[in-house]
Amino acid sequence: MTPPTLARGDVVLTRFSFTEAAKNIMAEHSNKHIQEAIRYAESHGWVVTQAGPRAHIWGMLWCPHHARDGCRIHIMSTPRSPENHARDIRRTVDRCPHT
Ligand SMILES: [Zn+2]
Repeated sequence: MTPPTLARGDVVLTRFSFTEAAKNIMAEHSNKHIQEAIRYAESHGWVVTQAGPRAHIWGMLWCPHHARDGCRIHIMSTPRSPENHARDIRRTVDRCPHT
């Protein structure tokens, strides 16, 4: 699945206050499969950011290569199949050429 194209530094993040951003860093996905996939990505040096309450995605994962050509993953809030989505996240992490 190809994620929708969004520019680095999504608008959803620029609207956050510092406190909200700090709180969101600690946020956990409500689905355990996806939460595990997020932890897997983090263990490979990826960084998770959470989108705002009105965003259609739960958040984003950014690969360790923090540049324009770095990898990023859009994390869905309520995917039709959380297990498939979690597997896609892990696969993308495994495919990242920057780790
Ligand atoms: Zn990468």
